[in-house]
Amino acid sequence: MNVISFILPAYNEEKNIPLIFEAIREQFEGSPYDYEIVFINDASSDDTLDAIKRLANRHPEVRYVSFSRNFGKEAAILAGLQHVTGDAAILMDTDLQHPPALIPQMIAGYEEGYDQVIAKRDRTGESGLRKFASQTYYKLINKIVDVELEDGVGDFRLLSREAIDALLRMNENHRFSKGLFSWIGMEQKIVTYENVLRQNGETKWSFNQLFNYGIDGLISFNSKPLRFCFYTGVSILMLSMLYILFTLFGIIQDGVETPGYFTLISAILLLGGIQLVSLGIIGEYVGRIYFETKQRPAYLIQETNMQRKSVNEQAK
Ligand code: UDP
Ligand code: MG
Repeated sequence: MNVISFILPAYNEEKNIPLIFEAIREQFEGSPYDYEIVFINDASSDDTLDAIKRLANRHPEVRYVSFSRNFGKEAAILAGLQHVTGDAAILMDTDLQHPPALIPQMIAGYEEGYDQVIAKRDRTGESGLRKFASQTYYKLINKIVDVELEDGVGDFRLLSREAIDALLRMNENHRFSKGLFSWIGMEQKIVTYENVLRQNGETKWSFNQLFNYGIDGLISFNSKPLRFCFYTGVSILMLSMLYILFTLFGIIQDGVETPGYFTLISAILLLGGIQLVSLGIIGEYVGRIYFETKQRPAYLIQETNMQRKSVNEQAK
């Protein structure tokens, strides 16, 4: 019998735990599939863990992994992938923004043999600014990065066991799942749904976090920003050489006549700015190398009622 696992990262979602559980259970009524629900409690400060444990006591298909501190959703996803035992896994948010009604369609896609069934969201009900910002971001980023990232496509998806194993073979610590999903490729199918607003609690993304997430997307998958620094440097070098020659000829012909304050200060500011930006970009990469070389675990578990499946244990 096929088992579908659910990976549900939960950070302060006490009210949503029973709701999402019921919603998932409903989808499996009369279905030939078994399911397992794995909550990843990302060190919630409310009663999320208790809510999960209460469910787990009554329903053996409910499992959980609870972190020792807040490690973020990316780490929660990784923990989920490492612990699930099913033949396929569905990644979902706990806040019911990912409609469980899509589950049968996703499973149907799995039966058709797809390795990734991706749920794509439209952006109804979102503020105009956020809509505009993300659309521009994806337009821009797809010009730059080497993997295709699509607007409205997030973590909500079904992954076959092959896809899970492929994801686990990537040992990087600083994970950008959206890019990793796209990087592994495999047979993909897209199902669409309408955007739903959050039921309980509030979004944990501040503007700052979204901004940093955006930079992660830019840097995690390519080294083009580094090349950009190089090209800017070369262009400026050429231009300044032309300028120097040009002025030199002027001086040879007419002698020194203009006091050079304006040109000097412009050149200093411009070059200083470009150098700092380039250094910053290099710093981003060096920082990543630093964190990756430390080989720290992506998360620490405080308590769980599961065994880690550890497909990538040998690789480490
Ligand atoms: N989440 C998490 N750790 C965090 C922040 C969020 O596990 O540090 C979970 C959260 O409980 C939810 C999902 O990730 O299930 C998406 O979070 P949120 O709804 O805040 O993001 P949004 O839907 O606004 O993108
Ligand atoms: Mg949400």
